Amino acid sequence: MDNNSESFDIAVIGGGIVGMATALALSKTCKGKIVVLETEDELAKHQTGHNSGVIHSGLYYKPGSLKALNCKTGRDLLYTFLEKENIPHDRCGKLVVATNDEEIPYLMKLMERGKENGLKGLKLLDKSEIKDYEPHVSGVKGMLVRETGIVDYKVVTEKFGELFEKNGGKVKLNSKVKKISRDGKEIILRTPNEEIKCRSIINCGGLYSDRIAKMSGINPGLKIIPFRGEYYEIKKSHHHLVKNLIYPVPDPKFPFLGVHFTRMIGGGVEAGPNAVTAFKREGYKKLSISIRDMLDFALYGGFWKMAKNNWRISIDEYKRSFFKPLFVKSLQKLIPEIKGKQLTSCPAGVRAQALEPDGFLVDDFRIVESENMVHVLNAPSPAATASLSIGESIAKIARKNFNC
Ligand SMILES: Cc1cc2nc3c(=O)[nH]c(=O)nc-3n(C[C@H](O)[C@H](O)[C@H](O)COP(=O)(O)OP(=O)(O)OC[C@H]3O[C@@H](n4cnc5c(N)ncnc54)[C@H](O)[C@@H]3O)c2cc1C
Repeated sequence: MDNNSESFDIAVIGGGIVGMATALALSKTCKGKIVVLETEDELAKHQTGHNSGVIHSGLYYKPGSLKALNCKTGRDLLYTFLEKENIPHDRCGKLVVATNDEEIPYLMKLMERGKENGLKGLKLLDKSEIKDYEPHVSGVKGMLVRETGIVDYKVVTEKFGELFEKNGGKVKLNSKVKKISRDGKEIILRTPNEEIKCRSIINCGGLYSDRIAKMSGINPGLKIIPFRGEYYEIKKSHHHLVKNLIYPVPDPKFPFLGVHFTRMIGGGVEAGPNAVTAFKREGYKKLSISIRDMLDFALYGGFWKMAKNNWRISIDEYKRSFFKPLFVKSLQKLIPEIKGKQLTSCPAGVRAQALEPDGFLVDDFRIVESENMVHVLNAPSPAATASLSIGESIAKIARKNFNC
């Protein structure tokens, strides 16, 4: 280790989309020197670079919640940004499909929620109208959501980084924050190459945000649990089965949206993701294991309470993960003619989902302020869609608390 040391006013930890949107917002309004510290050798290597690429409309979230508010504002900001910066995207809309009569009341509730969240132009479709939009889908009722779109969030994050640096900010890659200490009012961050001195920090560490909070002397009061989302890709010969985005009516007992079909902006169609508890925070493979992470979960009471309350769903998810025909069966509820041989597996993503000590998954975004610090402790989906709005909110907190 050398004795390099550099001083900044604000350090943002984490170069995912939330960290970079925050850094960009700060660079527009704060006068001080700002740095982003990122473990990896590129931006957006974790959740941001392994997601479905959907610009969410804001349909699902509890009205008035941070997710609902930031998704709506963030989605509008994002579409404007994409137009301005000429970033490829498509406001293609999506179809939510009830595949049996029991799902219809949930679909209707979803429509009411969408309206409460300010969505415009939601349209109910009967059996034959569904076919006009997605000829291969089988459903008893559908809902068209026009505000939904697709984009590559890695490209968006890189653009945030470019503009941040244009505004005078600095991005340091290969700079994992390993230790945080204080010297009077100064905060000292130790990375493998140098020491960063700053007055304030913003923790956007995704899958490690709880550990970073702890390192900084804060009790996060929750633990990040990694949920792997596995995908299959539809072979080119069968891309015609999916025109845009096709979603099931989500299971109200489960925080994830259910396996769906997504046309990707760069070409290709993906099916997934499922949601299996991973045995490693960055556990992208089925058998990825970290003894440290597993011990960490095992010693957390909330983990066992969650396991007790959700064991049946968890077992079903593992079965679907290891046994492709079960995954295909879920997909066939939406598109009956899809077959296993038309699908090849493709890279998974890992969601950072916060878990309360009482065993409940944190439903909303969680952003915690403390003296000279802001910690983003729960930013799962739709945080990529909402990133510009989250970034602006954090910059507002920084202006108030950090005097920047
Ligand atoms: C499978 C999947 C599908 C999804 N689909 C969608 C979707 O379609 N639409 C949508 O809006 N959202 C979606 N999401 C959610 C979205 O991807 C996340 O909400 C968003 O990417 C979170 O961004 P982030 O910056 O908080 O986290 P990340 O992208 O994980 O970034 C955190 C960064 O912090 C860095 N880091 C960690 N520890 C340290 C340290 N000690 N020092 C320095 N750096 C550190 C990491 O290397 C990482 O780059 C999906 C997520 C997954 C996993």
